[in-house]
Amino acid sequence: MIDYSIKRKCLVCGKEFTIDHPRRKFCSDPCRIEHNKQWEKKHNVAKRLRAKQRAWEVKKQLMESLGGKCVTCKNKDLRVLEFAHKDSNNKHPRLKKREKMNQLTKWKLLEKEAKKGLVVLKCTNCHRIETHEEFWSNDVV
Ligand SMILES: [Zn+2]
Ligand SMILES: [Zn+2]
Repeated sequence: MIDYSIKRKCLVCGKEFTIDHPRRKFCSDPCRIEHNKQWEKKHNVAKRLRAKQRAWEVKKQLMESLGGKCVTCKNKDLRVLEFAHKDSNNKHPRLKKREKMNQLTKWKLLEKEAKKGLVVLKCTNCHRIETHEEFWSNDVV
């Protein structure tokens, strides 16, 4: 049961309103929209989205500079392509120890390595298969 006699203060404009829904926090739709805007601003939603887009652009460019397809099966779907080191010993130390870093930093590091010719493009499938074979080809039993 909702007690319609209860009044609440709108979180945005401070105006008192009668609640018609237990979870209602705003007096009107414009106030609710305004609150969402403020929330997005506070949490840097737009900024984070831009950073994400920027990271994807860098990644995409890097993938295209490496031929834009899997070296093994020629798959061109950028969504499944990943960077593979020809020799995992040449991996940048920060990548090697799987250090936590933002995507952009990661792609920038890989870009440097790609310029040295250490990196190739592989789809998730081929990459997986290869790492698996590497594992079994180890002399250690
Ligand atoms: Zn309001
Ligand atoms: Zn492949």
